[in-house]
Amino acid sequence: MVVMDTYQYFVHRYMHTNKFLYKHIHSQHHTIVVPYAFGALYSNPLEGFFMDTASATLGFLVSGMTPRTAIFFFSLANLKTVDDHCSMWLPLHLVLANNTAFHGIHHQLYGQKYNFSQPFFVHWDKLFGTYMSYTLEERKGGGLDARPVKHRVAAHGKSD
Ligand SMILES: [Zn+2]
Ligand SMILES: [Zn+2]
Repeated sequence: MVVMDTYQYFVHRYMHTNKFLYKHIHSQHHTIVVPYAFGALYSNPLEGFFMDTASATLGFLVSGMTPRTAIFFFSLANLKTVDDHCSMWLPLHLVLANNTAFHGIHHQLYGQKYNFSQPFFVHWDKLFGTYMSYTLEERKGGGLDARPVKHRVAAHGKSD
C-alpha cells in the first residue's frame, strides 16, 4: 500500500505540473468535476497503465506478496478507488483520511493543485504541503458539501 501510494502521489502530481501530460492524458479524468463511482477509472488508457497498473505491479513486486494475496490487494485498491469517487459520506470515511471528500476536493478547480495522494493515505500531501483540509457543511435540500478550508477563508475575507 505504501509503495503504491508513493508511486501514485508523484506520478499524479507530475501529471498536473507537466502541461503536456495534463492536457493530453490526465485532463480526461478531470472532466469529472463531481465524482461518481463509475467515473473512478474513467481515464486515458495510458494513465490506466502508467499510474494504476504500474503502481499495483510495483507494490506486488516490491512486497513479494503471493499471487493469492495480490488478488485481494488489487481488488482492495480498485474498491478503494471506486469508493473515493462515490461522493457519498459513508461511516467508513470517518476513519479514512483519504476519502471521498478528500478526493472530491481534488476534482474541484480550486483543488487541482492539492490532495494528490491516492488511494490509501495522505502523508505525502502533508509532507509536501499539498494537503487541502476541508469541512463538511449541510447542503440546502439534503446531503453534505465538502468545503476546502482555504476556499472558505478567501470567500469570507478573514481567517477562522
Ligand atoms: Zn488529478
Ligand atoms: Zn479522481
